Amino acid sequence: MASVYLGLGSNLENPFFQLQSAVAQIEALPDTTLVGCSQFYGSKPLGPNDQPDFINAVCHVETQLSPQALLSALQKIEIEQGRIKKRHWGERLIDLDILLYADEIIRTADLTIPHAEIALRDFVLIPLAEISPGQTIPGLGCVETLISNLETSYLKPLD
Ligand code: ADP
Ligand code: MG
Repeated sequence: MASVYLGLGSNLENPFFQLQSAVAQIEALPDTTLVGCSQFYGSKPLGPNDQPDFINAVCHVETQLSPQALLSALQKIEIEQGRIKKRHWGERLIDLDILLYADEIIRTADLTIPHAEIALRDFVLIPLAEISPGQTIPGLGCVETLISNLETSYLKPLD
């Protein structure tokens, strides 16, 4: 079993509902157990700012799926949930990223783990620290240190 952290994001068509649906789909993945999920957080879009705010969360799962099999399964959930991608860093129905896969460092054509932008994103680091305090990010250090290096954060836990 590998301990894996997944990043979830949505900013279209009731993002709260989109995240809840995605968590339910993740829970239903074969050979995978959902261990926990962070609160849902509201965040400002990173890219074009003429788009709705995002809701983000991080889930912890234990899985026997390989990184590649997990990526394929997550992409299937994205497609089934009706993901539409209009532009880079633009609005989307649901985005599911593999943030961490055990303590592995993976760099292949379609998979970068730890996730390439992990150290720069408050909406990943803050929910990750919530559910896994002291978490080490392979090659980058401790999650709390990375949070203290962030220049700004617009993240707000949703009530
Ligand atoms: P982003 O999540 O960076 O905003 P996308 O979700 O559209 O953008 O990117 C999808 C592509 O990212 C996929 O083709 C996938 O192969 C690649 N990718 C690389 N590393 C990862 C990862 N750790 N988790 C999810 N997708 C990844
Ligand atoms: Mg993605």
